[in-house]
Amino acid sequence: MHPKLPRSRRLAAKSAGHVQLHDLFFPAHTHPWTSGVITRSTRCFPSLATASIPLFIWPQPVSLPLEAPRRLTAFDYYSFSSPFLYASNSPNPPIMPMLKDPSVKYKKFTPLKLDDRQWPSKTIDKPPRWLSTDLRDGNQSLVDPMDSNQKWEYFLKLVQLGYKEIEVSFPSASQTDFDFTRRLVETSGVVPDDVWLQVLSPCRKELIRRTVDSLKGAKKAILHLYLATSPCFQQIVFNMNNAETKALAVECTRYARSITKDDPEQAATEWAYEFSPETFSDSSPEFAVEVCEAVKAAWEPTVDNPIIFNLPATVEMSTPNVYADQIEYFCRNISEREKIAVSLHPHNDRGCAVAAAELAQMAGADRVEGTLFGNGERTGNVDLVTLALNLYTQGIHPQIDFSDLKSVIDLVESCNKIPVHPRAPYGGQLVVCAFSGSHQDAIKKGFQTRKRLGYTSESPWQVPYLPLDPQDIGRTYEAIIRVNSQSGKGGVAWIIQRQLDLDLPRGLQVAFSRIVQRETDMLGRELLPTEITKLFEEAYHLKRNPRFSLIDYDITADRSKSPAPPEPGKTASNRYLKRLFKGVIEIDGIEHEIAGTGNGAISALADALKRLGIDLDVADYKEHAMGGSANVRAATYIECTAAGSNQRVWGVGIHEDVVQASLIALLSAASSFLSSRPSTPIPFRPKRSNTLDVPSLESSPTSATNPAQPHANGDNKNAAGHGDQKKKSLVERLEESLGVNGGAGGN
Ligand SMILES: [Zn+2]
Repeated sequence: MHPKLPRSRRLAAKSAGHVQLHDLFFPAHTHPWTSGVITRSTRCFPSLATASIPLFIWPQPVSLPLEAPRRLTAFDYYSFSSPFLYASNSPNPPIMPMLKDPSVKYKKFTPLKLDDRQWPSKTIDKPPRWLSTDLRDGNQSLVDPMDSNQKWEYFLKLVQLGYKEIEVSFPSASQTDFDFTRRLVETSGVVPDDVWLQVLSPCRKELIRRTVDSLKGAKKAILHLYLATSPCFQQIVFNMNNAETKALAVECTRYARSITKDDPEQAATEWAYEFSPETFSDSSPEFAVEVCEAVKAAWEPTVDNPIIFNLPATVEMSTPNVYADQIEYFCRNISEREKIAVSLHPHNDRGCAVAAAELAQMAGADRVEGTLFGNGERTGNVDLVTLALNLYTQGIHPQIDFSDLKSVIDLVESCNKIPVHPRAPYGGQLVVCAFSGSHQDAIKKGFQTRKRLGYTSESPWQVPYLPLDPQDIGRTYEAIIRVNSQSGKGGVAWIIQRQLDLDLPRGLQVAFSRIVQRETDMLGRELLPTEITKLFEEAYHLKRNPRFSLIDYDITADRSKSPAPPEPGKTASNRYLKRLFKGVIEIDGIEHEIAGTGNGAISALADALKRLGIDLDVADYKEHAMGGSANVRAATYIECTAAGSNQRVWGVGIHEDVVQASLIALLSAASSFLSSRPSTPIPFRPKRSNTLDVPSLESSPTSATNPAQPHANGDNKNAAGHGDQKKKSLVERLEESLGVNGGAGGN
């Protein structure tokens, strides 16, 4: 299946019976956990060297039938990748109950005592100096680290986003990292003049030497050394005491200085120095200050080129306020504060890295190290996207450009091979979506309010449930409201408004959302905006009316009744005359000439339809303008009731001419009305047609008690003129208030 896949990882051969798993292949274009195959060892099965076999489900590695490769899961991948995880993914781990008293095993973190802390009343008023460590801390935590080209692409993106300090590698740990650093330095035009390349090295002279060598010729370089200062690490990992730790830090700083800023051969490079008392948050605050004082004295920073003291929460161990206390303590107790940049490096073990970074900035820190979307060891480094956009939504520009957040997500996912969580703050696929009806309704109202107030994209933001204007990070409004069976009328109306520029009246929202609900229930899934739009166009015959279409018409004043005599010298007013509709409509493909009278255009057409046996009464009418001034059209919504029944249908009409829009809407309703009546024979046959001899008002039918049996005799009274007072006044009221009783139509 994948005979020519690029090899991304060579496994130490693991014995599986007489078969040795030798190489693990992954297709380059997919995430490693989505697919993959293993080939058998060529030594064992030379004839099967290129055959792919399914990845076995550890821990049952013995049987490896030659079947079609199956999809890999994350579990498979991690099982293969690390002996440590391999061991921890034991097949039948004994299940230990959680301890009844966990205090026996886990000690409460002892916070330092800082009673006069100042940070709780501070605010964050400017962005920090940002340091992206995606290519170092992030990369070293990946199952499958980035190759040189991926790091390259990633670096370019970081520069484009606006990062000025980028930790690019751990050169002494891998040739790939060393070569990558050289490539950056040696390729002219790639590293802008104002961007610092940062590299990390442990406190060992030969490694520092190699690290510095990787940067030779760089314009701006930050050498970053680290040394653990916590008792846990000193004792368990390094077997060193405080004095030895401090002496080593000083010695390595002196050495670093001698081969960087004090070395005449390095004069082409502007050198800065960063020192991290690793595990700072688990160290004695006094000792952290003591070590940093000694390191500072060894480096001799200036105000213009301050030393960076990076104070990591290597493992997050306490509530974020405790970290803030530790940072405030450090800032207040270190000398020559103006020659120091205090940097944060929070990890997210307790899920509070963002909070820790924010509180610690309030406590005085100047700089934050993190990664895009929080990749990093274990639960990750602090997420730079969240931090930056948290500032943005407080009105502070982070100086990082996330206008096109999707491109950032695409890059991060393809390089890290870890998906961004759908609910990750700001970037997650679902975070600007609303499924629930009440949320959709509120959001829709929020946008309508903005429109009504004439707001622009820069106007103050206040929309329910949306802390950020999705457009500011390159997300479209269409994606905000998603419609599934949980959704209500508001969401559906929103989609129609966005897609068709139609502002549906409430009653129509309710009616149409029932149609949508039926569809989502039937399909058992979410409906796409395009599907909802299509459903609407079909339900209300917007594209094509299958039953009725208006071919031609004329609306005139009905002069069969004399108007009041004019005053001498004045034109006779037709103000109180009824309107006469004459026209041709096509019903099921056959043209019919019809005529009717009424107080206005709609009631005149309704009257004409009535004579065909379609007895509808207008119950509600709404209209609004669509489009800009150059291309303005009218959208008309008419709700009709069938005479003598509770059945209600909506019709929608759109036209440049408001009168014609309303006539189309009435025909749309008539079509739905006929289609929705099971008793209506299809095709509908009008009782009368081609009757251009307009009957007198008295000859119109009045009330159809049974709409399925249309009246055609001309003996009834005109509904609009002398019929049911309640019906008449409604149509009349609507037409008068809306000015639809217009003159000549058909333009
Ligand atoms: Zn870290």
